[in-house]
Amino acid sequence: MEGSFGELQEKVIGRGLCTACGTCAGVCPVQAVDWAEMDGEPVPELAGACANCGICPAVCPGAEVNIPVLEKFIFGRERPEEIPDLGFYREALLAWSADLPVRKRGASGGLVTSVLVYALEEGIIDCALVAGFRRDDPCRTGAWLAASKEDILAAAQSKYACVPVNTLLSRALAQGYRRIAAVGLPCQIHGLRKMQYLGRPASMAKSIVFMTGLFCAAQFYFEGTRHLIVERLGLTGLDEIAAMSYRGGDWPGHLVVELKDGRRLLLDRHQYMYHHLMPAFKRDRCEMCVDWSAELADLSVGDYWDPGARAGEALGTSSCLVRTAAGEEVLKGAVQSGYLETAGLEARRLAAGLGFELKKHAAAFRLKQRRRFGWPVPEYHRETDYEPFPREQHLAPETKTGKE
Ligand SMILES: Cc1cc2nc3c(=O)[nH]c(=O)nc-3n(C[C@H](O)[C@H](O)[C@H](O)COP(=O)(O)OP(=O)(O)OC[C@H]3O[C@@H](n4cnc5c(N)ncnc54)[C@H](O)[C@@H]3O)c2cc1C
Repeated sequence: MEGSFGELQEKVIGRGLCTACGTCAGVCPVQAVDWAEMDGEPVPELAGACANCGICPAVCPGAEVNIPVLEKFIFGRERPEEIPDLGFYREALLAWSADLPVRKRGASGGLVTSVLVYALEEGIIDCALVAGFRRDDPCRTGAWLAASKEDILAAAQSKYACVPVNTLLSRALAQGYRRIAAVGLPCQIHGLRKMQYLGRPASMAKSIVFMTGLFCAAQFYFEGTRHLIVERLGLTGLDEIAAMSYRGGDWPGHLVVELKDGRRLLLDRHQYMYHHLMPAFKRDRCEMCVDWSAELADLSVGDYWDPGARAGEALGTSSCLVRTAAGEEVLKGAVQSGYLETAGLEARRLAAGLGFELKKHAAAFRLKQRRRFGWPVPEYHRETDYEPFPREQHLAPETKTGKE
């Protein structure tokens, strides 16, 4: 059992701790891990003979992420106590694509898409691991290897249903790609960093040029989307759908469903997110994740809600924490080459936003409750403080930050 897929099954999947990040399938040297669908959710399963190499249970971020050890590995030192919230970063900034159609196509300001396009066109990467919608089932999410600008653009915007993107790692290497950009949620970045830390598989660990993490309040069960489509939009079946996006139309983007008969239906983002997906359909494992701002990524990117911006009348802007030298290099390159435009940002304002409280503090408190009852919990090797901060504290000049 130890060192096999069976260990993963017993310690992670069977205990409800799988994040569906895809790393186990992505690192398997004999491609024995595949995906089953259970209640609409991707679940890893053994589809071939396990080589008992021990890699998948070792890199899986489901039950354990040793954040202090990984931070020392990435940033060269342990996090001092006074920077508990957003992790290490070199610079905080606002950014948006200099290409207006790309900016409009992005969930926020199209930063992620622009950086990937820059890195591909400049020959810094051969491909990127991205999340989009499936061509054969347009309301379901899927992952693909993007090796052209068109493939990257097709993956723009946020998908509020699971995409095990890291699964694509082994396929990328099999196709001869050696310089890969990864984009993912905090759990996906955790899996990739564990792989790099362990150096297994060695070829994969070395192949990732930079990782872009998305700020993440939660991922959601697809069942939540199905309910939106049937209950709120009044469709009788998902097979009426020709195309879908969670952040379609003008910024900040809404649930847009295009039907095969030509009709276009729209559901307000605030309504579907805060009155449906967020309260009722958060994935259970996400409720226990204490990483909101993708603290282990090279670049971490989120929505920026400019207090003065009016929905439908403004263009989106991405907020970004530049954490590592690799992140800084690619971001600066994209700016200097005219792909991105930037402005300053006080990072502490990010922690004053709704997503931070909904995720980090809530998860820290929930972990404590679950431990009390002996329920399964992931181990992050760091206690996260959940004391509420008065809003002004985030916005006061002397607030402490993680800036190095
Ligand atoms: C589930 C989820 C929750 C989020 N929660 C928050 C939050 O609480 N606060 C906040 O500020 N921002 C949050 N974000 C991030 C935000 O919505 C934008 O994705 C981010 O600001 C980047 O915008 P952009 O315009 O720069 O990226 P774009 O140019 O639109 O590119 C987006 C990239 O993200 C990738 N991607 C999209 N969905 C997924 C997914 N499900 N899994 C893996 N990769 C994906 C795509 O491959 C694409 O390359 C969340 C995103 C997701 C997917």
